[in-house]
Amino acid sequence: MRFAAFVLVIAGTAALAAQTPAPFLPPLDRVLPERAETIYRAIAPRVETRAAMDVVTAIAPLWRLAGNPAFDRSLELVEARLRAAGIATRYDTISSTSQGWEMRDAALRLDGPAGEIVLSMAQDRVPLAINSFPTPPGGLTARLIDVGSGTAPAHYEGRDVAGAVVLADGPFGNVWNLAVKVRGAAGVISTQIAGYTQPTTTPGVLQWGAIPYAAERPTFGFKATPRAARRLRERLAAGPASVHVTADTAFHRRPVRTLVAEFPGTRLPDERVVLVAHVQEPGANDNASGTGTLMAAALALQAAFADGTLPPPARTLTLIWGDEIRASDAWIAADAARLSRVVAMMSLDMTGEDTTKTGGTFLIEKGPDPTAFWPRPTDPHSEWGASEVDRALLKGTFLNDLHLAVALRRARDTGWVVRTNPYEGGSDHTSFIKAGVPALLNWHFTDRYYHTNLDTLEKVAPATMGHVATVVATTAGFLASAGAGDVAPLRGLVATARDARLASERALAAPPEILDAWTRWYAEAIASAARLAGAP
Ligand SMILES: [Zn+2]
Repeated sequence: MRFAAFVLVIAGTAALAAQTPAPFLPPLDRVLPERAETIYRAIAPRVETRAAMDVVTAIAPLWRLAGNPAFDRSLELVEARLRAAGIATRYDTISSTSQGWEMRDAALRLDGPAGEIVLSMAQDRVPLAINSFPTPPGGLTARLIDVGSGTAPAHYEGRDVAGAVVLADGPFGNVWNLAVKVRGAAGVISTQIAGYTQPTTTPGVLQWGAIPYAAERPTFGFKATPRAARRLRERLAAGPASVHVTADTAFHRRPVRTLVAEFPGTRLPDERVVLVAHVQEPGANDNASGTGTLMAAALALQAAFADGTLPPPARTLTLIWGDEIRASDAWIAADAARLSRVVAMMSLDMTGEDTTKTGGTFLIEKGPDPTAFWPRPTDPHSEWGASEVDRALLKGTFLNDLHLAVALRRARDTGWVVRTNPYEGGSDHTSFIKAGVPALLNWHFTDRYYHTNLDTLEKVAPATMGHVATVVATTAGFLASAGAGDVAPLRGLVATARDARLASERALAAPPEILDAWTRWYAEAIASAARLAGAP
């Protein structure tokens, strides 16, 4: 019986394995163009994970928002390190909708100014909603009203929330509109959180958020941890309750800066390779790690250029640190001719995860290929989720497979786990892809601490940042120096990927429509390698 059961289990697991095929990871590291291999060997020993970790250690505790002091301090820290290494930098100023909000302190107590602390900056790091206004000196006490989800007018029927603090399970935006804007509540508390943060086993976790900026109606919002939500509802179960709120915040409405570092190209200075890391947000991994990783990539390139191991790049390398999406959009809009000569772009966003703590893996989010339009079992979407993608963005490019080859090269040396996911959007690569530039994202998912108060320093692994800095600097270094002699080996790599893909799809009995899509996409991708013939 047990043996029969055992056979059944094996059969079941085999069937399951059969159902979820292995991720599509052809051994492209074996067909890496020689120039890329040379650059990889020059860069790998020059990446200083210490430098990246210094930046993360300094800025991870800060709630960086475009235009606020923490944001500017973070840019200045990176700038100083780049300049000390002899790298040229400048600041661009961009128009921004950010209010430059800053949280200085916050607390929510039960019943009165001396009551039990349920939520606070000291305890929960980022409980206050972005755009919360300061409370009057000494704070304010208000009735606490539980409206359940709070996302529909019916949830407020028979409840007088005017001047009260509303406790709700719905998202900030919706609840704030119904409770504050429509019904005059003093503020809101939302318990909303994503399942992948494992709230049932993580009582102290919350996902930070924002309420609408409304100078005409200065209010506040808090995100509640499961523990705080339980405590507030326990208290309400015992009878009417009130909360005492203190919020010390400021708005720094000033120009938002973008830090730009450039390695000017020697022969094709107008052609560019662009790398972007957003700086705003309060996370160690999102995105203090990307900020530090991009800096470490810059320092490694500079070290190899400075000691002559690598010749200076033929094309210009442009590195950008700024406000997510807005800095990229402003750079794109500022100079159409410059944009038209961008060969490729890579985003670095969540590049330091210690996956033994955060879960998930390193992911290359590819530029749009057929997996973004036809779900493929070999290329699962991340838990962050698929989004509607404009079919016009489906254009073949060499970039996805080139960068995967470089990452697999690193994995070969170190055992690093590398995966890919179909295009989903949501980071700076999106701006460039929409502008017609081949682009991709270096990130990690599922990180259970994504956008939470627990995305803190000990969740960052220097080795991870070392891996990402190495592969980003290698691919960027290759793209910035490649010339006519590199076109054929690059085409060979992409053709190898094409053949592996078509074989994989045939094994999956993919319908003709998908096989045709891949054939068209790869024809474009192989042709796109000619883009690099410019440099001599
Ligand atoms: Zn991010």
